[in-house]
Amino acid sequence: MEPLKINEIVSAVKGTLIQNENIQDENEVIITGISTDSRSISFGDLFIPLTGENFDGHHFIPQAFDKGAKACLSERRDILPPEGKFIIQVENSKQAFMDLAAYYRSLFSIPVVAVTGSVGKTSTKDMIASVLSQHYKVLKTQGNYNNEIGVPLTIFQLNKEHEAAVVEMGMNHFGEIHNLSKIAKPNIAVITNIGVSHIENLGSQEGILQAKSEIFDYLKEDGIAVLNGDDHFLKTLKGKIPFEIVYFGLETDQQVYAKNIQSQGVDGTEADFVLSEQEVHVQIPSPGKHMVYNALCAAVIGLKLNLTLEEIKNGMLTYQASKMRMDIFRTKKNVQIINDVYNASPQSMKAALDVLNEISNGRRIAILGDMLEMGSYSEHAHKEVGEYAAQNKIDDLFCVGTEAKHIAQGAIHGGMDESRVRTFLSQEALWDVLEHFIAPEDTILVKASRGMHLEKTVEKIKEVE
Ligand code: ATP
Ligand code: MG
Repeated sequence: MEPLKINEIVSAVKGTLIQNENIQDENEVIITGISTDSRSISFGDLFIPLTGENFDGHHFIPQAFDKGAKACLSERRDILPPEGKFIIQVENSKQAFMDLAAYYRSLFSIPVVAVTGSVGKTSTKDMIASVLSQHYKVLKTQGNYNNEIGVPLTIFQLNKEHEAAVVEMGMNHFGEIHNLSKIAKPNIAVITNIGVSHIENLGSQEGILQAKSEIFDYLKEDGIAVLNGDDHFLKTLKGKIPFEIVYFGLETDQQVYAKNIQSQGVDGTEADFVLSEQEVHVQIPSPGKHMVYNALCAAVIGLKLNLTLEEIKNGMLTYQASKMRMDIFRTKKNVQIINDVYNASPQSMKAALDVLNEISNGRRIAILGDMLEMGSYSEHAHKEVGEYAAQNKIDDLFCVGTEAKHIAQGAIHGGMDESRVRTFLSQEALWDVLEHFIAPEDTILVKASRGMHLEKTVEKIKEVE
């Protein structure tokens, strides 16, 4: 973070500055960092005491001062600062934290790319950052820090050296993307797709489109929307938003599209990208059509931010998937695993089943667990995935969890032989069967929502000799 004067902070958060004895000249007081965790305070930081259901950050204000914090926000009026330190009283610490991040962002006139969508935000964000890094010094969201805490923390990492930023934005409810867009004030807004994640809270896919479209609330006036044009819901935004839209996709009527797509198995995909009258042959080093979409999106943004085709192409080669997303490797027994246990939704389940098809030489085995937070849509969503598995000629299907039985039903309905479809309520029960089942040359996809912890199954398969 670049240093901020304490007065700037007080006015950005509309707070009241409280000092103890020996009043100092406020204009001389500088804050050099922001922290929401009192255990990792550095000297000169501002500590933000966030409150949650089970904790109240205000309890940690004394500890934060001990560790070197120069100032702390506080919703409480009864906390006074030690000598030489400051309290900034605010109505709501989290809101103040977000307001301060919005102010801090406004100090930088670099292009900010914001990425939202139902599925593929992190993968797309990483791909865009890989491409832009060929030309700019880029700040990107670390891991999945995509909420009302993670986005401000990302923004506070901006410093004078950065020439571009790529910020992931996630949400569960209406209003969240609005708040995140207000902080990041994007120059380019990306929506990867409209799926069914969090449909429980948003009612319908139209609701999800509306919530994701909040990203445009603070898109800069001359900003650009980069949208997946093969997505039925995103197509409907044409002519409805007052911004330039660039649609990308696999259909050749998109402004930017891919042709001659050739799977290279585990090594990824090769394709020709057609980018407004120019063509470039690219290699995408992570398998699956979904990665072609993510790479097309990155190519559009590369072009818009003046990269050469060569830079765009080279940037893609440096892409590395984040942990537990399509992590492909072989075990001692020469079983190929696709570890995709990071999360799951119908769309990403289908993307992963496609990859299983693309890269397998021997039996294709899918171990699929529950997709959570689907509400009344759950049974339908699980059945849809099962039918897709059947269409894709998966050899053996293992379903784990209470909802996953509907995947099994869908698969059988879709024509899979009942004897190749098994359901388990617990992972332990699954392991007993797997041990005797798996054989060299199998390819096994393991995927479910994060809450199912299927990484334990991945560990078990690794141990089988
Ligand atoms: P979260 O909501 O947890 O932040 P996310 O939107 O960031 O998720 P990723 O972590 O990028 O999504 O990807 C999750 C999984 O979705 C990947 O492992 C992959 O299986 C799949 N995936 C990635 N990109 C796409 C895409 N464009 N379309 C469909 N599936 C995708
Ligand atoms: Mg993510």
